Amino acid sequence: MDAPETDRNIKEKGTGGTGGAGSAAPSNFIRAIIAEDMRTGKYGGRLMTRFPPEPNGYLHIGHAKSVCLNFGLAGEFGGVCNFRFDDTNPSKEEVEYVEAIQEDVRWLGFDWSDRLYYASDYFGKLYEYAVELIKAGRAYVCDLTAEQIREYRGTLTAPGRESPYRTRSVEENLDLFERMRRGEFGDGSRVLRAKIDMASGNINLRDPVMYRIKKVHHHRTGDTWCMYPMYDYAHGISDSIEGVTHSLCTMEYEDHRPLYDWFLDVLDIYHPQQIEFARLKLSYTVLSKRKLLKLVNEGHVHGWNDPRMPTLAGMRRRGYTPEAIRNFSERIGVGKRESLVDLALLEYCVREDLNRRAPRVMAVLRPLKVVIDNYPHDQVEYLDAVNNPEDPSAGARKVPFCRELYLEQDDFMENPPKQFFRLTQGREVRLRYAYFIKCVDVVKDEKGTIIELHCTYDPATRGGDAPDGRKVKATLHWVSAPHAVSAEVRLYDTLFRKDDLDEVEEGKDFTEFLNPASLEALPSCRLEPCLGEAKPGARFQFERLGYFCVDTVDSAPGKPVFNRTVTLKDEWAKLRKAGRQ
Ligand code: ATP
Ligand code: MG
Repeated sequence: MDAPETDRNIKEKGTGGTGGAGSAAPSNFIRAIIAEDMRTGKYGGRLMTRFPPEPNGYLHIGHAKSVCLNFGLAGEFGGVCNFRFDDTNPSKEEVEYVEAIQEDVRWLGFDWSDRLYYASDYFGKLYEYAVELIKAGRAYVCDLTAEQIREYRGTLTAPGRESPYRTRSVEENLDLFERMRRGEFGDGSRVLRAKIDMASGNINLRDPVMYRIKKVHHHRTGDTWCMYPMYDYAHGISDSIEGVTHSLCTMEYEDHRPLYDWFLDVLDIYHPQQIEFARLKLSYTVLSKRKLLKLVNEGHVHGWNDPRMPTLAGMRRRGYTPEAIRNFSERIGVGKRESLVDLALLEYCVREDLNRRAPRVMAVLRPLKVVIDNYPHDQVEYLDAVNNPEDPSAGARKVPFCRELYLEQDDFMENPPKQFFRLTQGREVRLRYAYFIKCVDVVKDEKGTIIELHCTYDPATRGGDAPDGRKVKATLHWVSAPHAVSAEVRLYDTLFRKDDLDEVEEGKDFTEFLNPASLEALPSCRLEPCLGEAKPGARFQFERLGYFCVDTVDSAPGKPVFNRTVTLKDEWAKLRKAGRQ
């Protein structure tokens, strides 16, 4: 198997480096900061990280990077990692997501024990802090509309203007805020804002909104609240309440950090340390819940767990293993500069893991019937086949061989080019674990399509070697026709035709770059009989074809559907090199 060419696979390295493949814990700048803080006893030897998803979609491979980082570092340094749902926006959040996210993190292999929290647990506390800020003259109720607030905010180059409501008295603010809470005002009619600095060079400090009225049912707090804290107000304080030591987040929150600091300083409460890192970008896909939701809602894919999706649910269904994803997360490293990681690296990690653990079987995806003319009509032999050459403990199995077989259509060519060494008329090849066969005749239908081959076999070559030492140039996989299990097999290509979907020209939508050939369903494949009993989720290597797994959604007892997890080699990297974009 090829070694990963990490430098080629990662277009631009983050400052943290990519880490050496195979090394247990390549260093990164966050690990270094934590190691130093532990050494100096900065938090009294305490380490607490957290993973804070918003339950407004399924987790994707980018979230996996964050999960592995937060849980991984906590585990490594003897600390803890909290699992906290940032559920501050009930109009976009659903219980389905809350459950799916937990399932995904558990599947990735992390355990939060009893450390499951919700930002909504802190709504009461957040409200008290807001009242405190009002009393300190640091927050006010503003009646500007959302549009006016935007307009008053100014731009990156022009300062903002102060709201006419900024000078309201503390008493009036307390009264209005309390009445907002009681539900006296309509959605969007009033907000609570922090009173900071409308001329600040950092737009996040221009009197950001802390609370907005939303008369929406919340999946946990029900109808207790009709106004909800903004993420930027709730997030840093939630970290503080829990006593998080290292709050790891993606780079886009760097400019929000002064705001989080402001809240913590003015309230004079415990101060976690925020450290930003670059989010993962993966080629040929999108990693944004908003975009993924659009793919689902517009029917471009069949749900969040479609095997083409970069979601953990999709990857799990596709056959990816948690070990492969964790390994990938470690290999890509952690840096400050955004880089586009090639999907080939993720596939390499999947292949490397499955190579170790997936039993080998034979399956014919596009069957071509073969009759062995000199083989007895009613005879069946059971031949020995190795389950996994990488793992002797996996043992061997018996594969039936008889007069009628299936071979792969493209393993035969009537008029082959020079480099084609597989079957053609008059040529001898080896059938894996079986015999040498020679093609003696070709049967076609009236349109000229080949529908059947006639071959002879050499009984002296049982097991795959000729006692007289003669050689063949190809070994083909096959299945016995009467014993074969029929199944649908689904082949996948990249979801998009474009590698960097952040670079979509103006006026174009990312969905225009969807790959129309991302799914190819082959309805009448023929598989080795043992696969009839394969359990949903079971993974195999189909010899010469790739790694496949039994679909957990569409398979029925005795009627498995298989997903191709990954090809045996990086085939499409070759295609891409040949100019397909
Ligand atoms: P999206 O843009 O996909 O909606 P998000 O950041 O809004 O992502 P959250 O649910 O808020 O999603 O994310 C939970 C955690 O996962 C956050 O700490 C966030 O920084 C991290 N995260 C999200 N996307 C990525 C990514 N692509 N790479 C690394 N970490 C990510
Ligand atoms: Mg978010």
